[in-house]
Amino acid sequence: TISTEIIAVGTELLLGQIADTNAQWISKKLASIGINVHHHAVVGDNRHRVEEQFRVSNKRSDVIIVTGGLGPTEDDLTREAFQQVSGKELTEHEPSMEMIKSYYDKKGMKMTPNNRKQARVFVESDVFENHTGMAPGMIVPFENTTWIFLPGVPNEMKRMMTDHVLPHLQRLTGEDRIIKSVMLRFIGIGESRIEHDIQDLIDQQENPTIAPLAQSEGVAIRLTAKAETDDAALTLIEQSKRAILNRVGDHYFGMDEQSLEEQVLERLKEQGKTVAAAESLTGGMFTDRLIAIPGASDACRGGIVCYDTTVKEHVLGVESRLLNEHGTVSEECARAMADNVSSRLDADIGISFTGVAGPDRSEGHPAGTVFIALSADRSGKIPVEKHVFYGDRNAIREQAVLKGYELLYH
Ligand code: ATP
Ligand code: MG
Repeated sequence: TISTEIIAVGTELLLGQIADTNAQWISKKLASIGINVHHHAVVGDNRHRVEEQFRVSNKRSDVIIVTGGLGPTEDDLTREAFQQVSGKELTEHEPSMEMIKSYYDKKGMKMTPNNRKQARVFVESDVFENHTGMAPGMIVPFENTTWIFLPGVPNEMKRMMTDHVLPHLQRLTGEDRIIKSVMLRFIGIGESRIEHDIQDLIDQQENPTIAPLAQSEGVAIRLTAKAETDDAALTLIEQSKRAILNRVGDHYFGMDEQSLEEQVLERLKEQGKTVAAAESLTGGMFTDRLIAIPGASDACRGGIVCYDTTVKEHVLGVESRLLNEHGTVSEECARAMADNVSSRLDADIGISFTGVAGPDRSEGHPAGTVFIALSADRSGKIPVEKHVFYGDRNAIREQAVLKGYELLYH
């Protein structure tokens, strides 16, 4: 197995002004084709320290992907640093030079001399033009290591990874089988629970490999299959998926990037039902996430942000007697909110959120206490759940919204 490393060059990364999302994205892509990443490194725009990093990395890794520092300015010094470390020569890349010139011509601007720098590439390297920017990318063999240089601008980097680097690495690993990777996503079950429930499958499995992972929303299981053809890989994944869903299918909501709210929307559409939300502490977050999906109008009636008690009373029509007796952070209030929002907005389903976002206690309840009610039919039965979430104000609000979608999904 080859050992891969990603180096991000840029002082703004070290200052915390931006996060190294390039390494994150590249790692994900490499994982999906079965390539291990052993190190992430971040180094500032300092010639000496970049060279030092390059020397260290060259010793320990088989493949090194460097992003950033290929631009025209003084602080873009990736090329120079690698030249120093490798002793390789640079030469002007004609097609890239032409592209840069024509870019300036089209804009009616004069090219500055330092822009030439961007078209410089290492001799004996595999160069790929930049279709979305200026500096070309390149793959440079040095000693026993494959060095890959990419621009720092995320969309330029991504395009080159997809078009050139990933196919190159797949050839390099000698893996001529096709690798397919999918994520099965679950909600309402913890990582350790899911792992426990499918432990024997994990132990037995070789192809596809099965890896549970915690996510910001719920848990996922990554299945990675290798086979001669696309279809064969997908069949392996399908079989494994079925075995897994036999155990923990109750908590399953979708594959890959599918979000829970998308699944909820799909389900509402299938059932021909509409939903409306009464949102106190969530302040519209629940409704916002639904409306962000194209086609939400088929199932989403709208929502009422009833943060203040008087809005719960006057806009939503929650009785003042109820509010006085039980408070706003209560089962009774949540029930009335769900019921009233569904009737006022003429929706089949009403969902409500009321609670304490914190940081201080309210009405005698600790921060994180949230009541969520769902009025799903006209029978008058309105189930309510009480939760105590942990974290800061926003984390509590987000967990409440997620839980709301989970309730609606089941
Ligand atoms: P350019 O040719 O545009 O100057 P470059 O190869 O010199 O590109 P940088 O100047 O290092 O790259 O970065 C350009 C921009 O790309 C940065 O301002 C930043 O917004 C973004 N960027 C750089 N590195 C990263 C990274 N590791 N993760 C996310 N974004 C990044
Ligand atoms: Mg730059």
